[in-house]
Amino acid sequence: MSEKETIIVIGAGVIGLSTAVCLQPHLSPNQSILIVARDWPGTLNLNYASPWAGAHYRPVPGSTAQAASEEQQARRTYQHFKAQAKIPGSGIEGTEGIEHLESPPADYLATDVFDKFYTHLDGFRKLSALEMPKDVTWGVRYDTFCVNPPVYIAYLLRRFILKGGQTKEYTLASPQEAFYLAPNVKTVINCSGVGFKDPKSYIIRGQTCLVRNPCPNTLTRQNSDGSWSFAVPRPLEGGTIIGGTKQPHDWDPRVHLEVREKLLREAAKWFPFTPESGGKFDVIRDIVGRRPAREGGTRIEAEKLGDGKTIVHGYGTAGRGYEISWGVAEDVVALVRGNGLVPERASL
Ligand SMILES: Cc1cc2nc3c(=O)[nH]c(=O)nc-3n(C[C@H](O)[C@H](O)[C@H](O)COP(=O)(O)OP(=O)(O)OC[C@H]3O[C@@H](n4cnc5c(N)ncnc54)[C@H](O)[C@@H]3O)c2cc1C
Repeated sequence: MSEKETIIVIGAGVIGLSTAVCLQPHLSPNQSILIVARDWPGTLNLNYASPWAGAHYRPVPGSTAQAASEEQQARRTYQHFKAQAKIPGSGIEGTEGIEHLESPPADYLATDVFDKFYTHLDGFRKLSALEMPKDVTWGVRYDTFCVNPPVYIAYLLRRFILKGGQTKEYTLASPQEAFYLAPNVKTVINCSGVGFKDPKSYIIRGQTCLVRNPCPNTLTRQNSDGSWSFAVPRPLEGGTIIGGTKQPHDWDPRVHLEVREKLLREAAKWFPFTPESGGKFDVIRDIVGRRPAREGGTRIEAEKLGDGKTIVHGYGTAGRGYEISWGVAEDVVALVRGNGLVPERASL
C-alpha cells in the first residue's frame, strides 16, 4: 500500500470546518485530513471572525457577479441549515425573518428582485403596507435560520473529529509551510479568513452588542439615513445580537460606548421588548470583530505549485461567512475533486 496522504485544511473558522466536514466523505481510505489553525472553537481572538458573527440567514440582493455567486452559495447553505436545524445542539434554529426598509436601495427595487433572491425561501411573502410600521416602504417575511456561532463551530469540529479528522494548533507563516506539517502532503486548503498577504484582502470592522432580551424573530431594519440595524436571536438561550457597524479597513480594536448607545437607541425604536424589560436592553457584552473581506469576493481557486502540490483557496467571505458557508465549502470541495486530489468515487 502506498504511503498515507494527509490533506491539510488551514483554518478552524466556519469556512475551514465546513470545508473539512464536506470533504470527509470524498477521501480515499488512504487519505486523511489535518486541520491546522491558530484559533479554535472555544477561544476568542479579534482576528478570528467566526465566534463574533450574528448570525442569521438573509438574502442580499445585488447585480454583480459576486452577488450572483454568493446567492447560489447561500441557497445551498439554506438547505443545509434546514437539515442541521433538526439536530439538537447544532446551534442552528429555524425562525421568522423580517426585513423592514425605509429607503430601499436600487437593488431592492429591481423588478426581478423577489424571483432572484427571495421566492425560494419557505414562507416568503411581501408585506402589505398595513403590516409594516410607519415610514417603512418595503418589507418581506420568510422562514430563516439563526446560528449561535460559538456553538455551531464547536459542533462542526466535533463532527469532524468523530469522523476521524485530526487537528493541530499552529501558526503558519505561509500556506506553503503547511506542506511540511505531516507526511506526504500534496494538497493544502487555505481557509485562513484573510488569506496570507493577499493584496486584495482587507478587514471590515464590526461592532455589535449582545443583550439578554429575547427576540422571537430576526429583524433587519434599514433606516431612512441608509444605515442598517438588526436583531438576531442566538439559539440555545444565547441572547440577541443587536447590530451593527461595517467599517472597511478600520483596525480599531476598542469598544466604543457611544457606538453601543447609538445601536441600542436605533434598535429600541422597533425592538419587540417584553413587558418585564421596561423597554430597556440588558447588555451582556459588546462585540468587536473583523470580517475577512476580499475585493471581488471570496477566493475559490486552485493554485498548482508544481512538484504535484496544490493549494486550493477558500477565503474572504466578509460579512456572509455563515450564510454562504456550506455553498463555499461545496465549491472548494468541487475544486479539490475537479483537480483529481481525491478519488472520483466516494469511498464512504
Ligand atoms: C461583528 C460581526 C458580525 C458578523 N455577522 C455575520 C452574520 O450575521 N452572518 C454571516 O454569515 N456572517 C457574519 N459575519 C462574518 C463571519 O463571521 C465571517 O465571514 C466568517 O466567520 C469567516 O470565517 P472564516 O473561517 O473564513 O474566518 P475565521 O473565522 O477568521 O477563521 C480563520 C481561521 O484561519 C486561522 N488562521 C488564520 N491565519 C492563520 C495562520 N497564519 N496560521 C494558522 N492559522 C491561521 C485562524 O486561526 C482561524 O482558525 C460577521 C462577522 C463579524 C465580525
